[in-house]
Amino acid sequence: RICPEKIQAFLIDEDQLHTYDDLTKVNPVTPTTVLKCLQARYSAKVFYTHAGCTLVALNPFQPIPDLYSLDVMKEYHCAPQPQEFKPHIFIVAEEAYRNVRGQLVPVNQSLVVSGESGAGKTWTSRCLMKYYATVAASSSVVKNQDTVERIERRVLDSNPIMEAFGNACTLRNNNSSRFGKYIQLQLDRCQLLVGASVQTYLLEKTRVACQPANERNFHIFYQMTKGATDEQRKEWKMSHGQRFAWLPNSEKTVEEDCFQETIGAMVHLGINAERQRQIFRILAGILQLGNVNFSSSSDESQTCDLEELSKDFLQRAAELLCVPAEELQTCLRVRMLKAGKQSVLKPCSQAECSVRKDCLAKVIYAQLFEWLVTFINNSICAEESTWCNFIGVLDVYGFECFHINNLEQLCINYANEKLQQHFVAHYLRAQQEEYVSEGLQWSFVKYQDNQSCLDLIEGSPVSVFSLLNEESRLNRASDAKTLRIRMEKELCNNGNISWDKFSKEPHFTVAHYAGKVNYRIQGIVEKNKDPVPPELINLLQKSDNPLLHQIFTDKEADNTTCKGLSKVTVVSKFKNSLESLMKILHTTTPHYTRCIKPNPDCKPMTFEKEEVIMQLEACGIVETIHISAAGFPIRIPFKGFMQRYGLIAKYSDFKSGSLSVVLTCLAVVLQLDLLEGQRKMILSQSAFTIQCCWLRYQCRRR
Ligand code: ADP
Ligand code: MG
Repeated sequence: RICPEKIQAFLIDEDQLHTYDDLTKVNPVTPTTVLKCLQARYSAKVFYTHAGCTLVALNPFQPIPDLYSLDVMKEYHCAPQPQEFKPHIFIVAEEAYRNVRGQLVPVNQSLVVSGESGAGKTWTSRCLMKYYATVAASSSVVKNQDTVERIERRVLDSNPIMEAFGNACTLRNNNSSRFGKYIQLQLDRCQLLVGASVQTYLLEKTRVACQPANERNFHIFYQMTKGATDEQRKEWKMSHGQRFAWLPNSEKTVEEDCFQETIGAMVHLGINAERQRQIFRILAGILQLGNVNFSSSSDESQTCDLEELSKDFLQRAAELLCVPAEELQTCLRVRMLKAGKQSVLKPCSQAECSVRKDCLAKVIYAQLFEWLVTFINNSICAEESTWCNFIGVLDVYGFECFHINNLEQLCINYANEKLQQHFVAHYLRAQQEEYVSEGLQWSFVKYQDNQSCLDLIEGSPVSVFSLLNEESRLNRASDAKTLRIRMEKELCNNGNISWDKFSKEPHFTVAHYAGKVNYRIQGIVEKNKDPVPPELINLLQKSDNPLLHQIFTDKEADNTTCKGLSKVTVVSKFKNSLESLMKILHTTTPHYTRCIKPNPDCKPMTFEKEEVIMQLEACGIVETIHISAAGFPIRIPFKGFMQRYGLIAKYSDFKSGSLSVVLTCLAVVLQLDLLEGQRKMILSQSAFTIQCCWLRYQCRRR
């Protein structure tokens, strides 16, 4: 008799590493062996590998012919057992699709795609959406004023619009999504796609007014400036060859600079020509605003002056935003201080003017983005009564650790902690429950519980978030050092936070599950408050641009105005939206895909070990494999088992087909030369959970 461990060892063959479709079969499972296997597969142009319950996707950084073709989709969709095909994102897609109806009670599904920037999350999400738009295509159509569209088309067309407005060229990815997205694909009773809805998270709006060195602003601005007709240029008041301060690296051409595609998608979604004009005038106004500069005033009681050229830009910005130029100028240069019921006007310093200018651009852009998402939802969402289940696709920013990390990174990494916790909790719980119900013996590897890190960030009564919020609520100039001291005092019991006492910059370090990250404290409270001067909102509400007027008038009671703003901080808002996402995820069956970026330069077919190993560690893939391998990685339904192994049953009853499926399976197992315990392991009460390699070996031996 051969024990299972030996058979696993027997299966290891270095030359054959690229043939390992599932990393749970690698033995021993260490970062090195996993890496070797992935590298061997990458060299053999195999980009997908199972890691137990997770699919690992390596980015080829070049189009792979026929990997995602219609025929391939159909193949996976029509296969009786797609799991037996080569690992592919379509296996995950198909499994989720079958799961919706597979159970007695239909269950909604979530496809969680993670990975660092440039790893291929958005690509994967698009593949998934295309898959469902193809295999679940319904004949339903939606009407615009003058066009009739198929719903699948519309759902897919939401991508180029959101990417034009929400993606940008960064150092890590030429088409980096600067927001998180959860899209629910709505299926009707016959499992046909009848609509979708999108939820977005934390758009990086600072990029509108401030682009990191060697990066770019959002694609849409470049699409406009590059793709405009002479007539549009005139309408947008762009002089010939005008340079924009907020459009760095314009000379760089990226695939995404495709204005016509964005316009086409807008038309399909029902954004009419007049609305489009309004949108582009607003964007052109933002660009002109970016060229406005203030000079410092010699006297504090005087307002800052505008250079001659800036006056012109300001005039153009005002015309494009349809607000009075005089008022725009005043709003940017004078601040209103409220003292009780009285208000006092105070000239702003040069730096303050600049902050107000940036703030105006950011708030306009963020609200415009939100309006677009709402519009898209109205255009693609099916009526409540017409759909009954959904498959959700989650594409959120991966774990980030830069040289300098800010509130944005804290939020992003917090989101990743939450998702990791969901992954571990869900996966372990699901397995344990199943094993218990089937009376199986099992023991798990230890896994990293990140609850204490989450407690540190969001817990109560004190946490990083609660201290930040408290500091934001107190209307005082916040001091980084004081905040650091407070943190040190109040959070010292949590082992996940630390400080380098000798560092000049006040900061704190959080030990995330994926690694340690230093967060800068300077400016973090201000970012959390994200204040918008009420004068600016008042001004925008007066705009004659109907869209601008609408988006700010609708928002009156919301947190963009001064009233609500002091209450809802950035972290509170983010925490709330993430909590509702987690609630949805908990009600669905999740499927995880981890995208891996094989090199930092986005070079085709280049596998850099250090890069990959860092990502494998950051997403805890080795642990995942251990957990999967310690459990039973392969589950075959009775029927599939019978079809595959039934031949070896000696019983004539089976041959004549008079035994039930379950009994046939039992007959097969009785034929095998097994110990009682092993038999029990293979055949459990409600389903088979087998150590597959071992069984295959036994079967082959016969
Ligand atoms: P992320 O969303 O994780 O930041 P993207 O999905 O935007 O990354 O992928 C970055 C780039 O990598 C894409 O623009 C595309 O060029 C390339 N890419 C990603 N996945 C694939 C794939 N499966 N096949 C070919 N190219 C890919
Ligand atoms: Mg992306």
